[in-house]
Amino acid sequence: MISEDIIMVVCADLANQVRGKGFPASERETRVLRGVGWVPTNSLITCFNTIADGPFGPLGDLLLIPDERAEVRVAFDDGSAPEHFMLGDIRTLDGAPWNFCPRSILQTVLADLLSEAGLQLKVAFEHEFWSVADEAVPWSSFGLGNFRRCAEFGRTLLAALRSAGLTPDTFLPEYGQDQYEVTVAPSTGLRAADECVIVREMVRAVAKRTGRKVSFSPVVNEGTGNGLHIHISLVDRDGVPCTYDANGPSHLNPVAGSFFGGIRKYLPSLLALTASSVVSYERLQPHRWSAAFNNFAENDREAALRVCPVIGLEGCTAEAQFHVEYRAADATANPYLQLAVLARAGLQGIRDHEPAPTPTTGDLSLLTNDQLAKIGVVRLPSDLQSALDLLGKERLLRLWFPGEFIDVFLAHKAGETAFLQDKDTADLRRLYAEAY
Ligand code: GLU
Ligand code: MG
Repeated sequence: MISEDIIMVVCADLANQVRGKGFPASERETRVLRGVGWVPTNSLITCFNTIADGPFGPLGDLLLIPDERAEVRVAFDDGSAPEHFMLGDIRTLDGAPWNFCPRSILQTVLADLLSEAGLQLKVAFEHEFWSVADEAVPWSSFGLGNFRRCAEFGRTLLAALRSAGLTPDTFLPEYGQDQYEVTVAPSTGLRAADECVIVREMVRAVAKRTGRKVSFSPVVNEGTGNGLHIHISLVDRDGVPCTYDANGPSHLNPVAGSFFGGIRKYLPSLLALTASSVVSYERLQPHRWSAAFNNFAENDREAALRVCPVIGLEGCTAEAQFHVEYRAADATANPYLQLAVLARAGLQGIRDHEPAPTPTTGDLSLLTNDQLAKIGVVRLPSDLQSALDLLGKERLLRLWFPGEFIDVFLAHKAGETAFLQDKDTADLRRLYAEAY
């Protein structure tokens, strides 16, 4: 059959769906300059493909302009069409960043962090997901037997990630039944969020070609949740690590202490931007190894902010390894917005000379609200609506984003939750599992 190469220019939108338009690969040069036409109302298409009520209606035109630095072309050499897409920015017709483009929002925040504090973010996303092949298999957490059964999937995934320009780090059968995890090496700034999108798309691309179903939804069934853990450190303009201080509180240097202090402080209000769906809040409960409080702790996998361990072996310097993991995140939120809001909260912490957070110890779910208040910790919002209410109320947080961004985000989420009315828990889980 005759065929011609198509490139998709795509963006991860407010629903964290990757959507865009295709053009002939032969038109690449022109499309990189002019992009393709895009529509404001697309930002109101929910993960269930309904359109939320919002300010745009049928009016307006935009451009989705591909970024050559974020091009992926992976040929699987199995007779299937290559995966060929470019991540892009949504701009107005005169080329200015559009206020509701998550990728442009992140670029502005990162520029502010660099100009105000001389800092960049170095980030690795740890992705957990659920995947099944046709036959149901007995499961052994982290088991070599499970690895053997999914070896073809894992090997093809690693090759696809490498061919897409990423550096695979780990692939494993995780603790939960049919649960997997994949990580790639950390990268800096915008590229880290781009890679977050690319990793998920490669997992989906390989799953399709190896006859597997896959979902990154935080809660797919009765079993273990799928987290997205965001490992963050600060580096300077030249990429030199600047988070660690051997004598600092929890080994944080003063600026990193303020940065993570800011995130901890604003965590309840910003949570809806890092865990954005109804099912997110089934995962964010005590004893699920996720995060249920706005706490910071050392080596504790139930902390929202976990100071990760430093390996003392030869050739491993503490400065280069030291980082903090944000665990109150999942794949129903947009990674550009996740990094944008964490960087904004961190920058606010630096501006306000926020003290380094005091690490908590023990099981916080055993404490009363008064006892929690004494250690300056609160339970995180326990459902999406409460998280959205807090987001809407935080005046400062609105100022971290352009124009009416927060209102449009809230309108989008109102459309998503309206669609779910009258659905029971099993339906909710199934719908989100299909969407993500
Ligand atoms: N599955 C857990 C979560 O929902 C995380 C397990 C782990 O620490 O890797 O975040
Ligand atoms: Mg894990």
